[in-house]
Amino acid sequence: MTAALVDFDDVIERFDPMLGLEVHVELNTNTKMFCGCPTGFGAEPNTQVCPTCLGLPGSLPVVNRTAVESAIRIGLALNCSIAPWGRFARKNYFYPDQPKNFQTSQYDEPIAVDGHLDVTLDDGSVFRVEIERAHMEEDTGKSLHVGGATGRIHGAEYSLLDYNRAGIPLIEIVTKMIPGTRERAPEVARAYVTALRDLITALGVSDARMDQGSIRADVNLSLSPRDSGILGTRSETKNVNSLRSVERAVRYEMSRHAAVLDAGEEVVQETRHFQEDTASTRSGRIKETSEDYRYFPEPDLVPIAPSAEWVEELRATLPELPWARRARLQADWSLSDEELRDLVNAGALDLIEATVAAGAPAGDARSWWVAYLTQKANAREVALDALPITPAQVARVIELVASGELNNKLARQVVDGVLDGEGTPDEVVSSRGLAVVSDDGPLIAAVDEALAAQPDVAQKIRDGKVQAAGAIVGAVMKATKGQADAKRVRELIVERCS
Ligand SMILES: [Zn+2]
Repeated sequence: MTAALVDFDDVIERFDPMLGLEVHVELNTNTKMFCGCPTGFGAEPNTQVCPTCLGLPGSLPVVNRTAVESAIRIGLALNCSIAPWGRFARKNYFYPDQPKNFQTSQYDEPIAVDGHLDVTLDDGSVFRVEIERAHMEEDTGKSLHVGGATGRIHGAEYSLLDYNRAGIPLIEIVTKMIPGTRERAPEVARAYVTALRDLITALGVSDARMDQGSIRADVNLSLSPRDSGILGTRSETKNVNSLRSVERAVRYEMSRHAAVLDAGEEVVQETRHFQEDTASTRSGRIKETSEDYRYFPEPDLVPIAPSAEWVEELRATLPELPWARRARLQADWSLSDEELRDLVNAGALDLIEATVAAGAPAGDARSWWVAYLTQKANAREVALDALPITPAQVARVIELVASGELNNKLARQVVDGVLDGEGTPDEVVSSRGLAVVSDDGPLIAAVDEALAAQPDVAQKIRDGKVQAAGAIVGAVMKATKGQADAKRVRELIVERCS
């Protein structure tokens, strides 16, 4: 146990980090990987199980075709080659959450190999991460340890098991070792998982919710003495469940490894667990080697042999991928790298695109979502897309402003009304009586009243000091509760004073 951590800058001075990432993606198929059980999240424990996913004697698995399609589409989107033939393998180990005593996985014959993913870093530069493989496997059940203080198995009085998750299809995506990240290793790790999550979302093959565990990242890290090319021993930090935690886990492990090496000790090859509260990792189990798992080809399943035609059919179903879409929108909307990044970070890109699709100019759509509505979302502590207003409604408000029926101030009141559940923009306009008054009758009355109330100002305007009209415009706007057309008011003042 080494106590002190080495300062991050000091680590970079003396070591090169070597990063590797393994990401598990839970697919959103209707049924499990090898049986027909449903996969919905949050069902009563052990209600979505059958003899196959419980590993009962005599039950036989059948491969889920949709899961294979999803795996191939993920592989293609990651620029991988799709293996024309491959078998599943049994990964043997005993643990209560694995009722078969083996996990059906792929070992030396994965479905997709040798790809890459280009990830954009905070400064807009692009870093290529090489992908080693993507393979299909099944999820385990869930253990719940009851009675202990920590929720961990140590100190628990008893444990409960829920096999609803056992057998849900997973794709594991494994990078090659990622060299050359230097001080950006934590950022590259976060940017990679972010890009992968966005890709999976665009493909529509998973909910891609890190907080619900449908995307789980394992962070592999080792340190080499600077420029030595000598590989260090790696640790594997499991199930890091937020983008921020991915970054923090890399940072912590770099400082910890350096401390171990500085103390003249050896880094232990082990599994570690990320601790959200302290942003640190704790030791898990000593890492097994693949020999420990006694992998062998699964005898109960036929090999997966996707034809070239099928693979091409699936390639044709790939949507516009996130980076291509961003490049297109950046060009269409004439955004700088920084502006684009802000929109992406604010989660506003889809909303703005949908608002533009509903007929609004891009500049107006952007301005509403990143300024006023972002403020409202922050005040309500919800994500931008969780606000109770649709892109089509925002587009309608923009249209009402463009046609002169609303001014900006009234438009904000209309949006407030929609957010407060008062109905569509048009309903709010009529129920709150918010339309701009451009009818000359009431405006002339208000102008005359304001001129009479401020005779000295009126005189100045008559003497040709037109800039003095501002005070009268202000008074009229106040009198009409902001509903007057300010431009028309100014014209009327000049008319009445000439
Ligand atoms: Zn089942």
